[in-house]
Parts: sequence; structure tokens; C-alpha cells
Amino acid sequence: MPRKPFVGGNWKCNGTIASGTELAETLKNGSVMYKNAVEVVICPVAPQINMLSKIFKRSPLNVGAQNFSKDAEGAFTGEITASMLKDVGVNWSLIGHSERRTKYGETDEICAAKVEKAQEAKLSIIFCIGELLEEREKEETDAVNKRMLDAVIPKITDWSKVVIAYEPVWAIGTGKVATPDQAQDAHAAIRKMLPEAAAEKVRILYGGSVTTDNCKELIGKEDIDGFLVGGASLKPTFTDIITACVPVKPLTKPEFRKVSSIEPEQRGVSFYGKVLKAAESAGEDASTVVVGDETATVTLRVRGDRASTCEVGKVMRVQNAKVIMVKGFIQVQIDKWAALALSDVEIGEVNTKKDISGVEYELTST
Ligand code: PEP
Repeated sequence: MPRKPFVGGNWKCNGTIASGTELAETLKNGSVMYKNAVEVVICPVAPQINMLSKIFKRSPLNVGAQNFSKDAEGAFTGEITASMLKDVGVNWSLIGHSERRTKYGETDEICAAKVEKAQEAKLSIIFCIGELLEEREKEETDAVNKRMLDAVIPKITDWSKVVIAYEPVWAIGTGKVATPDQAQDAHAAIRKMLPEAAAEKVRILYGGSVTTDNCKELIGKEDIDGFLVGGASLKPTFTDIITACVPVKPLTKPEFRKVSSIEPEQRGVSFYGKVLKAAESAGEDASTVVVGDETATVTLRVRGDRASTCEVGKVMRVQNAKVIMVKGFIQVQIDKWAALALSDVEIGEVNTKKDISGVEYELTST
């Protein structure tokens, strides 16, 4: 069953109103790259929650808390309850992050009490689990994850409000990332520990030194449904990590057909193609870009500054574009409704050696 990708950004104890505003605005602008294809929750320090909620209004980005109380309302100076978060419109919180477990004594029992409070308040949670280095060395990874999960599973009645983050403690903030196979093995084992009715639906995130460099390989693994990101979520390039999680249809090689049978206009076309000729201004805010493979070239009409990202040699993914005939040639228009992304990964067999510019073909499959 396909699970919607999920990415959490844990800003930890960092930032000011000025730096938080700047980063939030940048992330909001970047969200056009993935729109609603990925569920995203940013967890800033508590004093910035309200500010981020305002900035993220009418954007796909959500705000979450990093912590809340195991107790109810009352004489608990300094605490914030789950229902208070809901009251200010916050729908998500982390629970059981390793920094809270190891630095603030958050035990399995405390985590269980917090999970219970979250479920009562209908607050969704990113529940963090993961082993220490010495536990991995003793091959206790699965046992530790099971212990942490078993402590909270009896408190969960609504699994739609639970996301699990597997974060090996030795990988958090250390620059040491679990290999994709290590992460996949742990995730697959975790899925088996969940109640049968929930197992296939629950998103399991990987966390631990995720960066723009390693995210693509990790997200390719079957049981990795997204990421919980610390350090790299404080950079504008966090958008690239989120965008890497957008589900991509398995690509068959793009196919083209001779122009003689072209439909004059076709909408909603998606395809990949290598950029053969860089963007050239075509008046107003439009540029043309030539992409192709060994069978045909296609002229793209690209609006505005999107054209500047079309570098020769990179593979472009174009979704939901409009194909029209212009003087016997194909033109694919990428207007404001169409998505365009560039990837370093070559998908399909593209052939740059053959110069076939100007061949009249129609794109027929995606
Ligand atoms: C985290 O804080 O949950 C985390 C995974 O941090 P980092 O990405 O910096 O390792």
C-alpha cells in the first residue's frame, strides 16, 4: 500500500525570530517543488511556533512541537500540555527523541504517558526510537526498538496519528549515517513489531545525519517512508531533501511518435528527458529549452526563472505539462500548474551523442 511520504524538520534548540523567519519563508517558497506530495512538519523552538504557524498559513508546511508534558493541566510549572498545543493549532509533536531520553531522563514510561496524553488530545506524534552505538555493536538494535515500541503500543488507539522515526543514536548529529541497507533492515523489523492492522499504513522515518547527498539512496528503500532531519533542516537546502521524497512513477523510456498523427493539443503530459540545449529567451517571461533522447527532441516552453535550472546534461522531470503543435514541431508548455524538477539521476536511456534536433516527433507516453 502506498504511504504518503513524510519529512520532519527538528530545529532543536536553535535560532532567533529573525533567523527562523528567514528560513521559514525560504522553505515556504521552496514548497512549490513538492506541494502536497509530501507531508512536512517543522518543529521549531516553542517561542517560534506561533510565528511559523502564521508564515506557513496557506502552504503545505505544518508546525510541530519538540516536546510536551506527560501530565495534565495543573500545578506543573514550566510544562505545556498536549491539549494546549492543540489549542494554539499545533497538530504534531515529537516524543522520545534520543536527546530527551539521554539528556533529560525521558524513560519508556514517560514516553508512554506522553503518547497517552497525545492520543487523548488528538495530537499527532512523531515517536522516536533507536539504539545506542554499544547496543548496535552487541546486535541489540531490534531488541531496543521493540522495547521502546512495546512501552507505548498499548496506549495507541488511533494509529493514523502516529509516525515512527527510527533514529540510531550513533547517527544523530554525528555525520555518520546508517547505510541504506542498515536502515531498511531496521525499518522492516520495526514494521513487523507493529499491530497487524496498522503495520502497512504507519509511516516509518529514518533520522540520523540525513543530508542532500544521502537522502535519495535512503528514500529508495521499501520501508523508508521519509525522514526526521535535524542539522540539515536548518538550511535552505532542506527543500531538496523533502523534494527527493516525492514519489516518482517507475519510468519507462519516453516514447515518441511521428508528428503526422499528433493531436493538436494534449494536456497533463509527464515525461523525463535530458536537456540538450540550454534555455533561450522566447519573449515575455518564457524561454525555450530543448530536451530529448535517442529518438526525438522536444522543445519546452518554460516560464520565468524555472528556465535557469535547466542545465545542459541534466535530466528533467516534467509533470502535467501541455503539449501543442507549433509549425510542425512539438512544444511542451510548462505553465504555472506544471511541475518541473531536475535530477542528477539518469532515468531512461538518454543519448546525448546523437544530434537529432529538429526531427518532427510527438511525445506519446510518459
Ligand atoms: C534529529 O535531531 O532528529 C536528527 C536526526 O538530527 P541530525 O539530522 O542532525 O542527525
